[in-house]
Amino acid sequence: MRHRTSGWALTVLTVLAVSLGIPAQATAAPAPGAAPAAGQAERAGDVHAVRQNADGTTSVSVYRPAPGVTADALAKKLKAKGVRGVQAPTSGDVTALALPCSYGTARSLECSPVRWAHNGYADPQVYFLDHTSSAWPMTAVVPKWHESVGIDSYYRWYTDGCPGGGRHCAHVHNSNYGNTGWTGVTNYQYNSDRYFVDGSVSMQLNDYYGGSAAEHRNTACHEAGHVLGLGHGTSTSSCMYSSRTSTTVPNSDDFALLPRIYP
Ligand SMILES: [Zn+2]
Repeated sequence: MRHRTSGWALTVLTVLAVSLGIPAQATAAPAPGAAPAAGQAERAGDVHAVRQNADGTTSVSVYRPAPGVTADALAKKLKAKGVRGVQAPTSGDVTALALPCSYGTARSLECSPVRWAHNGYADPQVYFLDHTSSAWPMTAVVPKWHESVGIDSYYRWYTDGCPGGGRHCAHVHNSNYGNTGWTGVTNYQYNSDRYFVDGSVSMQLNDYYGGSAAEHRNTACHEAGHVLGLGHGTSTSSCMYSSRTSTTVPNSDDFALLPRIYP
């Protein structure tokens, strides 16, 4: 019912936009920095810092709050540290959006989605270049994401470099970044066609907040899902849930949404 209602609302908005001569995308993707419209609360639970670049690209960092830290508290902390473009976190229930922004409990990272280019491959090829210590099990996380239809994820030790030839790479780092308020952050840049910019995408995993092996894997799985274009889901059965849990894997909705982002 909720899908039907939001689909109906989207149709009305689209018709309204068309009648006003506004491109349909304008209703689906509010300008970065703008407050999310009603029904666009897909960012609940994380904190985005968004900066518009002179070359027309947009740079984003998505921060996952540490245990016991609210999104509001994290946003205040980031601003106090001089991070630019910190957006006011959304709150409350994560609202279902129309495809390809939402499927079941899964959500895309941005709506409309930001995604990787195919570059001639049947599925976009994404290599995770691992700089991390053994505490962060990227060797387990990446093959799990590779099970998804629509996009191919590969593990690679960073010294082997990015293979090139239209394949994409994301660097994965860990460090004791300190009492930052976040356990993980994904940084990315996207162009006016809403494709990730090669060389701009990275993950940072914070040693400071400790946690169990399962919690480390949960955060690594979570940030890797952001790298592929997924946002925060509403189910604790997925590592894409906004808060840190002991869930080490994506759920079936994540795997159902990815091929819809990458048709
Ligand atoms: Zn997140």
